[in-house]
Amino acid sequence: MQSAAPFSRRRRQILQWLSTGCGCAMCGSIDAQILGYDLYATEIASKTWAVHGQPEYFEIGNGGNIVNVAFIEVPDGIVVIDTGPSKRYGEALLALIERTVPGKEILRVYNTHHHPDHFLGNQVFQPETIAAPQKVIDNINAEGDGFTDNLYRLLGDWMRGTLVVAPGVALEATSEEVGGRNFSLFYLDGHTSADFVIRDDETGVLFSGDLAFLYRAPTTPHANIPRWTAAIETLTEIDRDLILPGHGPSDPKGESLSQTSDYLSWLDGNLRDAVGQGFTMNEAMLMPIPKRFAGLGVVRTEYERSVVHLFQDLEDELFQVIDVVRD
Ligand SMILES: [Zn+2]
Repeated sequence: MQSAAPFSRRRRQILQWLSTGCGCAMCGSIDAQILGYDLYATEIASKTWAVHGQPEYFEIGNGGNIVNVAFIEVPDGIVVIDTGPSKRYGEALLALIERTVPGKEILRVYNTHHHPDHFLGNQVFQPETIAAPQKVIDNINAEGDGFTDNLYRLLGDWMRGTLVVAPGVALEATSEEVGGRNFSLFYLDGHTSADFVIRDDETGVLFSGDLAFLYRAPTTPHANIPRWTAAIETLTEIDRDLILPGHGPSDPKGESLSQTSDYLSWLDGNLRDAVGQGFTMNEAMLMPIPKRFAGLGVVRTEYERSVVHLFQDLEDELFQVIDVVRD
């Protein structure tokens, strides 16, 4: 589902980067004017557009454009799902929406969870239109500044002017009507402590956030794998026509759910084996990854990050504390 176009855009961005320095403090500042996301909207269902990110990790060459966001034209305006990794991305997204569906008011912006690639474009939207479950808002308020600092370190000038803006509306209903369109709202967790899923009841498109990845390795910095697996089972049961995963191509067959579940099951089992054999974290990082996951973007990088995220808790779970009794 990835066309050749995004890769040529990425090559162009890398050439821009190489021709202007890396943007780090050591090399001097990059020319802020030359950075542009060049976003592209793909109509995945009637009046529903996805803006696909690269199946990569945050790096200067992609400006953090690694995430899927979406916008929908409803009868009375526009609904947006997630806002990208920076203020600059948010501005590019707004311009793309205006080019695609000119003159429409943005009525609602949903944030699926508090990871920075999904909400740091919020500041270009009206806060009273941005909505998420209270737990997502709490997570943004608790961790948003730290995420932003980290992306400034990773992405340099791409992040210029980016500030944390939490949603102004806390959701708890299981559905809401926005501009003449009904949306079903699902409150799940597992990828993080609050993962919000939205279904457009008219088109049947399910916006899964990062509970589902496709052809891109799942990320686990806040993962609870049993909860995540249960959430995927819940998503499997939901009536839908298409899934837009948080990362990867849009998915008519539910492959993102089975692929993510398969990967998480292997990851958990593999790390439990590693702990059981007494491996160190470094040894666990060197373990082979099954060939069936070879097509997942950045799989080795994400696997190594997952070792860091998950290994200590598994050691605590699997190693029993031995009381030493002294005579
Ligand atoms: Zn995420």
